Amino acid sequence: MPSAALTEATDLSAPSPPFEITPRPCTHYDDRPDPADISLLVIHNISLPPATFNTPYIDEFFGGRLDCNAHPYFARLAGVRVSAHCVIYRDGRIWQYVPFAKRAWHAGLSLFNGRDKCNDFSIGIELEGADDVPFTEAQYQALSRLCHWLLKQYPTLAPERILGHSDIAPGRKTDPGPAFNWNFFWQLLAEQQSAPPAAGEPA
Ligand SMILES: [Zn+2]
Repeated sequence: MPSAALTEATDLSAPSPPFEITPRPCTHYDDRPDPADISLLVIHNISLPPATFNTPYIDEFFGGRLDCNAHPYFARLAGVRVSAHCVIYRDGRIWQYVPFAKRAWHAGLSLFNGRDKCNDFSIGIELEGADDVPFTEAQYQALSRLCHWLLKQYPTLAPERILGHSDIAPGRKTDPGPAFNWNFFWQLLAEQQSAPPAAGEPA
């Protein structure tokens, strides 16, 4: 069960990244079985309603505040409690719903390298988007910065351990979808990794 006292993804003991991450209210998370094992990063997309952007509904859905009568599509979301560690919105803004040390509820039935329950050991990042709609340049920039920082925070992560939801739940999930430009993402991540560290940032 989630801790009701922890309603925001604020972890004062965690180092803060050299870019803005806004904590948002969310109780859809719990403890990782092994907090030291954060060894997979999963990229998703979400939009509510599907393929409709710049709505408040993702924030409300992850925050447990979505009015399921607000749109016909939302009827299927009644009682569904899910989350991701972060959502990167169309303008590149990063909002955090779950502390990275905690287990977000994003992967569902999933398998990576013979291990199931990928939520236990993964970080989930949602891009506001849809499988067949190009993501924004600002989203790729924010995602590469965030992934670069997470790779430095968690030595158990590695670029080859950054996957799409469809890679760990094939046949069940299709996101981030064909519109997600992996080559562009890898290029930006490589640029981040070859750049000299910013002031105050660990090398
Ligand atoms: Zn997904």
